[in-house]
Amino acid sequence: MVSQNGRKRIVILGGGFGGSYLAKALTKRSPGLDADVVIIDRNNYFIFYPLLVEAGCGSIELRHCTVPIREFAPKAELLMAEVAALDTERQRVHFQLVGDDQCRAIEYDHLVVALGSVTRIMPASVVSGVREHAFFVKRMSDAVMIRDRAVELLELANAIDDPEERKRLLHFVIVGGNVTGIEVVGELEVFVREASAQYHNISDEDITFTIYEFNQRLLAVMPENLSRWATRQLARRGVGIHTGAGVKEVHADHVVDSDGNVVPCSTVIWTAGITPNPVLKQLEGLPLNKFGGLQCQGDYLAVGTDNIWGMGDCASVPGPDGKPMPPLAQIAIRQAPQLAANIAAVEQGRPTTPGGVTLQGVLVPLGRHRGVAAIKGIRIHGFFAWAMWRAIYLLKTPRLSRRISVLADWLLNAFFRKDYTQLGMNPDSHREMIHSHASCEADEG
Ligand SMILES: Cc1cc2nc3c(=O)[nH]c(=O)nc-3n(C[C@H](O)[C@H](O)[C@H](O)COP(=O)(O)OP(=O)(O)OC[C@H]3O[C@@H](n4cnc5c(N)ncnc54)[C@H](O)[C@@H]3O)c2cc1C
Repeated sequence: MVSQNGRKRIVILGGGFGGSYLAKALTKRSPGLDADVVIIDRNNYFIFYPLLVEAGCGSIELRHCTVPIREFAPKAELLMAEVAALDTERQRVHFQLVGDDQCRAIEYDHLVVALGSVTRIMPASVVSGVREHAFFVKRMSDAVMIRDRAVELLELANAIDDPEERKRLLHFVIVGGNVTGIEVVGELEVFVREASAQYHNISDEDITFTIYEFNQRLLAVMPENLSRWATRQLARRGVGIHTGAGVKEVHADHVVDSDGNVVPCSTVIWTAGITPNPVLKQLEGLPLNKFGGLQCQGDYLAVGTDNIWGMGDCASVPGPDGKPMPPLAQIAIRQAPQLAANIAAVEQGRPTTPGGVTLQGVLVPLGRHRGVAAIKGIRIHGFFAWAMWRAIYLLKTPRLSRRISVLADWLLNAFFRKDYTQLGMNPDSHREMIHSHASCEADEG
């Protein structure tokens, strides 16, 4: 694909938080650029991640945690395609449109790599069985699968007679006790307990949640007093908390923890860290660091290049303190206008400026109208922290219509029981759940 009008073309790989906000910034009047902006993403939406867990657990309608890219950045062109390869010599990206098996190419004057991250999965020699048996929290389908799994388990546990097996089925293990893991425990525990009220054979004691965290405390990104408060809250709700401990084997019906204990359970949710998108390794000519991230200068330019830029979770960009900026949506969003200004500066023959986005704060919802928040030196916990989390993310949700939909979902949920129907996204779970039972045929025999 060649530019039709002789204008410069900026190609953005990945239309997530970083890529979409950048496209919006580049197509505004302020950077003073007159260029075509093209986003390549495998989806025509991006996920508003802070609401993903709520969407998965039914607190908001699933679609309401997504943002349609075409509406968000209407002046940019979107190619719904899988990024396949890069030719830096000829300044070309190769891609495959979704639903088509032909490989196509597009030329660029500037290339921005904003392909995000994936869940970090340890090699099988360190922790085995994760890929085969664990659930993740990254895609829309992940969130729905966890919810469907919980409903399926409640149905099965309600129908069987063996009390020990019922407890195993309803034991949820979360590996990784940082922000995402804690959000999952907070929301899912409420979802499962509230749903269980509809099942006559399931009591509160049958349901267990356990967190494993390698650090010595949960929520290592939060100040210590807030982390302690959150830990006490979760412990009071009966959540089993193992800090300074991990899991070394994941099986369909149990885990083996780092002390060698065999722990019966049927669902393991893996939230133990992220790593830059491995597709970067496929894109020849990119300077990658030892973690597989795009190594950039402070002005977002990839090291050793003059027209390739990086941002968001997949890029290592030094902040004002020299350390890489953290992989967070709030960082990617604020990187966007700085990067747009730097691309404009190069085009206009001006020097670029180092970015420098720092963390504004961290907010974590714990479920049951509780949360913890540390923002610009202010530390709060309890109801106000939870309300602040909701208010801030509601305001940050792009588009007024989405904001109203999310608010309506929350209000409806405050007055009515959640919907516990399955969405049919978990075709494999039945096989795993009944792993410890004999097959129907064998039972009869
Ligand atoms: C459950 C969860 C909760 C979170 N909560 C918060 C929070 O409360 N606050 C906060 O600040 N941050 C939060 N984050 C982190 C935040 O979501 C990320 O830091 C942010 O999304 C990074 O933006 P990005 O543009 O780098 O990547 P992404 O937003 O992930 O975008 C990457 C894009 O690249 C596309 N893509 C990837 N590979 C290809 C390919 N081969 N071809 C085509 N397209 C491709 C993807 O479809 C995606 O749209 C959370 C993350 C998760 C998983």
